[in-house]
Amino acid sequence: MQERSLEPVESIIGRLSATVPDYPQPGVVFRDLTPVFADGPALHSIVHALVDPFEGQFDAVAGIEARGFLLAAAGAYAAGTGVVTVRKKGKLPRRVYAEDYSLEYGTATLELHMDDLRPGMRVLILDDVLATGGTLAASARLFERAGVQVAGFGVVLELTGLRGRANLAGRRIRSLVRE
Ligand code: AMP
Repeated sequence: MQERSLEPVESIIGRLSATVPDYPQPGVVFRDLTPVFADGPALHSIVHALVDPFEGQFDAVAGIEARGFLLAAAGAYAAGTGVVTVRKKGKLPRRVYAEDYSLEYGTATLELHMDDLRPGMRVLILDDVLATGGTLAASARLFERAGVQVAGFGVVLELTGLRGRANLAGRRIRSLVRE
């Protein structure tokens, strides 16, 4: 079993994450956390830092396509729960709930299998980055339509200048780094 790093998570993320200007389009500063995920002790530390504060408060972990899947699978495994996927439109084969949300330009749609979780279950939702909060807000609506309670959100990095928390008022959010 991988040992957790003794280095504080904020320091790990700062040291390993990459910043890519003008990706995927001009004006966007893309924060790439894949080098953090690629480092064994770093992955171990961030996954525990995300899920441990919610211990005993969730019955499943959900990940948002695509980088959220990595965190959610690891978090669910660490907590001993199942994992659920929130996917972009058209990827799930059975009956889905769908929720639209705003992007910087236009809208997009997220989907959830209607029967992945039972009503009354509690879900912890994980993703890599919180920007405007539209993605997490849409995911929460999907689960609530399924009768599933959202225990909270965990993200590795919160871009505070985009005021995502304002879109998620009243929700419990754990972000490991705010910048
Ligand atoms: P938002 O809905 O605006 O909070 O955007 C969050 C989603 O978009 C997450 O799934 C992120 O992976 C992705 N995202 C948005 N902005 C960035 C960024 N600057 N760097 C990396 N990922 C981003």
